[in-house]
Amino acid sequence: MALTGLQIHKLLPGTNCKDCGASTCLAFAMKLAQKKADLADCPHASDEARKVLGAAAEPPVRGVGLGPSRSLKLGEETVLLRHEKTFVHPTALAVTVRTSDPAEATARTLAAVRDYLLVRVGEELRLDMVLVDHDAGDVAAFIALAKAAAEAGRPLALRSADPAALAAAAEALAGQGCLLCSATPDTADALVAAATTHGHALALTAPDLDSLAALSKRLRDAGFHDLFLHFATHSPAEALQTSTLARRAALRAAFKPLGLPHLAFAPAEMAGSVAAVREICKYGGVLVLPGFDPAQAAVLLTLRQNIYTDPQKPVQVEPKVYEIGEPGPESPVFLTTNFSLTYFLVSGEIENAGLSAWLAVPDCDGMSVLTAWAAGKLTGSGVAKFVKESGLDDRLSAKRLVLPGYAAPIRGELEDGLPGWTILVGPQEAADLEGFAKSRL
Ligand code: SF4
Repeated sequence: MALTGLQIHKLLPGTNCKDCGASTCLAFAMKLAQKKADLADCPHASDEARKVLGAAAEPPVRGVGLGPSRSLKLGEETVLLRHEKTFVHPTALAVTVRTSDPAEATARTLAAVRDYLLVRVGEELRLDMVLVDHDAGDVAAFIALAKAAAEAGRPLALRSADPAALAAAAEALAGQGCLLCSATPDTADALVAAATTHGHALALTAPDLDSLAALSKRLRDAGFHDLFLHFATHSPAEALQTSTLARRAALRAAFKPLGLPHLAFAPAEMAGSVAAVREICKYGGVLVLPGFDPAQAAVLLTLRQNIYTDPQKPVQVEPKVYEIGEPGPESPVFLTTNFSLTYFLVSGEIENAGLSAWLAVPDCDGMSVLTAWAAGKLTGSGVAKFVKESGLDDRLSAKRLVLPGYAAPIRGELEDGLPGWTILVGPQEAADLEGFAKSRL
């Protein structure tokens, strides 16, 4: 739990020596509380202070990395609701391949996981993991499939009901940072040994939340921390309630045994998509999909992008003049803001209309058109200044600038600021740009 400045102050030496750069220990404590300083800047802090402050600085949901370089991070969440601050590490989507699947189907799935790419508002969205499910065959088949799956270049989750098979696969994939799933109270000790020796993470499961917390506490007390929670639930309502209870206990009560990322399995068909949406919203760590479905992947990745975008930082594109198609001196200039979603909608519609045009994107702090205008970030004088500084004034012979419909009120000011230009008021919605261009340009 976060400590206040006064609580931190009690842990500091109190000599006010200024070696940390702050004028007093109290000032330094206040900076620490606001996370604007690092305890390492005080060379006189005691071991006790380092221990207490280090524990307090740990996020309530422990971060766990997966993959050979542990680069796929899960956990480290600090809020229950996205709008309180932000969610940190997006739910990892894992696609299942099974030892019972025909080889051609497995090869298709692995290629799809490797190659699938959705580009949305300038971000590349991909599938994150492969789960190798030992649902048939011997250990050798399980290991062979796991090794083939590793070729897809994604971190693996390894699943088997046979702990000996899981331990053998863990050894064969040593150093790959896999997620072994799932250890029960009876199999946990053997699987922790395999995970520790071969560098993997381990998912835990138990019949109820109390037993799961007790198992997690036992393993954490023994020094193993790369853990996930896999809840044994029997209905969508129970799944939502259980994951919320666990996250609430971790965040509100600093209950460390439940302060771990979650692992969940989505069933097939529509129920799977509903479960997947629930997990992405609350509070999925690794979400296992039963197979590869491009339509489902597109929907889930889009939802995930929306949920995990920091609400305090609008996604922005660089403010500048963009060329759409092959614009020349006669081409029109369209205006929009540097909010990514707005930019990509407008540029996409201009492209779809087959137009070559200039797209002027002044800095509006990443706000949409109407918000930017209402906040005074999109003004006639500001746009005129931007256009002049961009060099468009000198490059164009036909000086036509199309305002977004929502920015119509700045037209007069813009005409004053850009003498010689024709200022047109375009449609309010990007989808109407093509019709506007045909009738007015
Ligand atoms: S260096 Fe440490 S002891 Fe000195 S003023 Fe800063 S916090 Fe206090």
